[in-house]
Amino acid sequence: MHKTALITGITGQDGSYLAEFLLEKGYEVHGIKRRASLFNTQRIDHIYQDPHEAKPKLKLHYGDLTDSSNLTRILSEVQPDEVYNLGAQSHVAVSFEAPEYTADVDAIGTLRLLEAIRFLGLEKKTRFYQASTSELYGLVQEIPQTETTPFHPRSPYAVAKMYAYWITVNYREAYGMYACNGILFNHESPRRGETFVTRKITRGLCNIAQGLEDRLYMGNIDALRDWGHAKDYVRMQWMMLQQDAPDDFVIATGVQYSVRQFIIWSAEHLGISLNFQGEGVNETAVVAKVTGDKAPGVKPGDVILRIDPQYFRPAEVETLLGSPIKAKEKLGWTPQITTQEMCEEMVAEDLKSAQRHALLKQHGFDLPVSLENG
Ligand code: NDP
Ligand code: GDP
Repeated sequence: MHKTALITGITGQDGSYLAEFLLEKGYEVHGIKRRASLFNTQRIDHIYQDPHEAKPKLKLHYGDLTDSSNLTRILSEVQPDEVYNLGAQSHVAVSFEAPEYTADVDAIGTLRLLEAIRFLGLEKKTRFYQASTSELYGLVQEIPQTETTPFHPRSPYAVAKMYAYWITVNYREAYGMYACNGILFNHESPRRGETFVTRKITRGLCNIAQGLEDRLYMGNIDALRDWGHAKDYVRMQWMMLQQDAPDDFVIATGVQYSVRQFIIWSAEHLGISLNFQGEGVNETAVVAKVTGDKAPGVKPGDVILRIDPQYFRPAEVETLLGSPIKAKEKLGWTPQITTQEMCEEMVAEDLKSAQRHALLKQHGFDLPVSLENG
């Protein structure tokens, strides 16, 4: 018998990789997408199946984590074996701007889903995965962070996710639900949202290399993160729901780098050597040397990065480093893609897109480059 999965956030980075993964495993996959005024399914268009075909294995439902009756109806129709709650307002900086909405979606949205499962009497059938986050550790109290490290969230996003974490534990303890938290450290890919730091860097530098933008404006480039590849992390999300008993796991690489280092690697993949000059908000990155033909848009002496305090957060998470030991020992999971390999892949993909843009521009078709803000 094939299994049925429901993914909230299927149009996001992780949702798209997880949907691919589950389809390959033979699952029938249902996803909740939001109504938007522009198409928002770019990350899953390649696996979309025409609903007119006989028995499509991927089905999308309009819905929203703020809408209980909608969630209950979808769960009742789909009767899923597994629910992956990946939907969220997932941007830390945005959560300071929209704290109430973030709490509604990320915290109460999780409760709505769990309650709908219970209300429909699915609590013994449906296994539940909650996308928890290393942001829970915030002001870190132990290095590296493990499943038992105390939480100290530092943003409305992290506080909302802390509620979601505990309500998942609570439904497991109170109602015997098979519910797991994956405490995932930052994970990236060419499909990462354009305003998260890694993608902002790879996309921005590729645009600069191709002469489409002049400069990147960044916040705290000395922040340290433990960055993995989303493909590795969605595999672990599935593994967590295949055990005999539910449990919570940290998913991380166990290695950390600075944002500055990620900038240096990305520039190197484009044949650009950088010198960092100045200090604090006056710090800049200046092109020292250009080799190869990937960056015709820059020359030595160009200032291609400045610090803009607009990107500093009211409360920062300076350092995150996870211990994946439990995931390794209990589930045999190890990440297969290193941070450097991931950076190279992201630059290669963003360079292709910047080169397409530059070619169109040369031929008189000037597409505007979307403005980043995050
Ligand atoms: P994305 O931001 O790429 O995707 C978020 C998804 O949630 C999108 O499909 C988005 O829809 C959807 N969504 C947003 N608001 C709502 C809503 N009100 N109702 C229903 N769906 C909604 O995030 P990622 O894929 O990177 O992350 C997946 C999950 O993992 C998130 O919960 C995130 O907080 C968490 N997480 C991510 C980490 C990371 O490093 N990537 C680290 C730890 C946890 P739309 O496409 O329409 O915007
Ligand atoms: P987060 O760890 O979930 O907040 O993921 P992000 O990718 O948004 O940010 C990672 C780190 O990069 C944080 O410490 C940010 O403060 C830092 N950072 C520095 N400059 C920027 C920037 O311009 N945009 C973003 N998004 N983050 C930045």
